[in-house]
Amino acid sequence: CYILAVETSCDETSAAVVKDGKEVLSNLIASQIETHKAFGGVVPEVASRKHVENITLMLQEAVQAAGITPQDLSAIAVTQGPGLVGALLVGVVAATSLAFALSKPLIGTHHIAGHIYANNLVADLKYPCMALVTSGGHTELVYLEKEGHFEVIGRTRDDAVGEAYDKVARALGFPYPGGPHVDRLALESEEAIPLPRVWLEPDSYDFSFSGLKSAVLNVVNQRKMRGEPAAEGAIARGFQESVVEVLVTKSIRAVKSYHATQLLLCGGVAANKGLRAELSRQCEQEGIELIIPPFKYCTDNAAMIGAAAYLKWKEQQFAGLDLRAMPQFSLEEWSVRA
Ligand code: ATP
Ligand code: MG
Ligand code: FE
Repeated sequence: CYILAVETSCDETSAAVVKDGKEVLSNLIASQIETHKAFGGVVPEVASRKHVENITLMLQEAVQAAGITPQDLSAIAVTQGPGLVGALLVGVVAATSLAFALSKPLIGTHHIAGHIYANNLVADLKYPCMALVTSGGHTELVYLEKEGHFEVIGRTRDDAVGEAYDKVARALGFPYPGGPHVDRLALESEEAIPLPRVWLEPDSYDFSFSGLKSAVLNVVNQRKMRGEPAAEGAIARGFQESVVEVLVTKSIRAVKSYHATQLLLCGGVAANKGLRAELSRQCEQEGIELIIPPFKYCTDNAAMIGAAAYLKWKEQQFAGLDLRAMPQFSLEEWSVRA
């Protein structure tokens, strides 16, 4: 089964060919980071226009790079949501047109299911498993009782963790996306400014990062007003320690109480060195099998969409040519029907 997958939910235009949901034959990504940097974040209209510029050639090149012809394709898959509506539309229209022109089945795919199933590209998933999704727009604990069945057991009530990283980075004077800069500073610093941990109700798997972000902004501003040295390193380290402790503690508690056999880390923040190190350490200590995809499959890419779409291919659950972009789209809704 050869799936041509398309991803345009945010600021990466990507097309990939994935064989049997596992083998990546091609995975082309055009990042718009340089374009959006000047604005300090993603500008939706600009993102859509860039996707339009790139998508046609990219689809062609993805098929070529895979060493197959368009007729060899088994299906066309596309990220339906969640994401920026104008950005999603570009992918949906391109994929739908191609499916029509080639008479191939169309598979509507969920972006976060893609982030989770990126793990399937590098490991064999064993069920039940638990996924910690940490990205620019999401922070969720997702329980998978069996393949393709998603239950979100916890989510952020305000900022996503990547979003908090980007805002803290901006306050410390770094360009978008700032997560990697904060990560680097945190690891270089010997000192940490103590910052709060937000646990919410004792049994909750939800997260909250906006209070922590505000605490960081207060520290930054107070130091500025008092004329004290900025202490970016100690602030970054304090922030990262708080984020990592909450994410790791809640994930391990979730794995244990749901008797999950594996923990899957995914989303752009899975690139965070502090998070990877502490999660690895505690999983090893607790005897939990941890899977972390390589960086190229953590940030947005179409290969992960091809991996998730394969679940629907196996059940022959195809979309009609009236497939709509779904800016808000729940994982439960996308779950594979048994
Ligand atoms: P979503 O998947 O929720 O729609 P998104 O696709 O925009 O959001 P990703 O591309 O998965 O998000 O991740 C981007 C985020 O990851 C940014 O917020 C970025 O700052 C963050 N990030 C990347 N590397 C690191 C790092 N080393 N430490 C912390 N955050 C990081
Ligand atoms: Mg992105
Ligand atoms: Fe993403």
